[in-house]
Parts: sequence; C-alpha cells; structure tokens
Amino acid sequence: METFEKLEGRIVKCYKCSLATTAKRKVPGSGNKKAHILFVGEAPGKKEDETGEPFVGTSGKILNELLDSISISRSEIFIANIVKCRPPKNRDPSPSEIILCKPWLLKQISLIQPKVIVTLGRHSLKIFLGNDKNISECHGKNHTISFSKEIKAITIIPLYHPAATIYNKKLKKVLFEDFQKLREFLS
Ligand code: URA
Repeated sequence: METFEKLEGRIVKCYKCSLATTAKRKVPGSGNKKAHILFVGEAPGKKEDETGEPFVGTSGKILNELLDSISISRSEIFIANIVKCRPPKNRDPSPSEIILCKPWLLKQISLIQPKVIVTLGRHSLKIFLGNDKNISECHGKNHTISFSKEIKAITIIPLYHPAATIYNKKLKKVLFEDFQKLREFLS
C-alpha cells in the first residue's frame, strides 16, 4: 500500500527529467498530511532547493503573511508544488516537465484527500481547470471538480501566485481580498 513516506522516497529518487540533475534537493511538499486544504504552487526556488522545503523564500514570506491574515497556520495545511525540482534560474517549468512530474502531485492528492485545493499561479490553475482558463478571470472563485472514484468532489480555488505581487501592489491587494474570500468559504 502506498504511504506518504514511501511516496516521498520515490519522489526523492525520481530522475524522469533533467531538472533532477540540476536541483540540489527535491522538494516533495510539507505540512499536515490530513489537511482539508492543499496549496499547490509552481516549482521550488533557490531557498526551497537548498532546504528541501516549499515556500521558504520570498514567496513563502508573502504566503505566511496571507495565511496569518486569515488565521490559518502552516501546520493546518499541506503545501506542494507541481514540479518537485527547481528549474534552473527559476525559469518556468516546461510543459513536458509538468507532465512528467504531475503524477506525483496526483498521488499526493489521493493520499491527502483534501476538500479544497488552492492553486497559486497560472500553471497550477491550468493543471486542474484546463489550459483555456485565465487567472485574471477565475481568481478567487470556487470551481468543483471530480477527481477520482474515491474523491468525487474537490473545490478548486485559483489564486494569484504570491511572487506575482512583489512588484504589483494592486495584485497584492487582490490576493489579500481573495484570501478573505477563502476564509469565508472555509467557514
Ligand atoms: N514558488 C513556488 O511556486 N513554490 C515554492 O515552493 C516557492 C516559490
């Protein structure tokens, strides 16, 4: 039977694409393995690559502020990325890297069985809701998808990526407002 520990062991040993050869560490994800809420980012950055933990660099600081603003602690949620290895120079993960890495995320979802998946950024949005979806139109809105026979309904809430707000104060305000919507949805 698949367990979280076995799955993480397999992720750490994965060499399906070249990102595994340039990354210092794999970043499978971290947090509460029984979480009702799963956050899915894009790919590890420099700090994440050094530590093996997701969202511990600049984006992680912003994510912490956003979580604080709705009184959710990181111990209540699980945070993962679509791609488990850092793309060189923080470039976007390529479509083939996303396709090769996605099964790990799907297995994590099967084990966690979250009620809500919060997607951070456009890549994460597209893997759940399809390539034709545009983040500027669907951020902050709930979408329900059927994931598998066992998990018939998961609510997807697409949000902007915290990094997108670094140089855009308007987006930062939008992201804080969307987190309030997330809080209302959860209660
Ligand atoms: N950006 C992401 O999408 N994920 C991380 O883990 C860090 C930065």
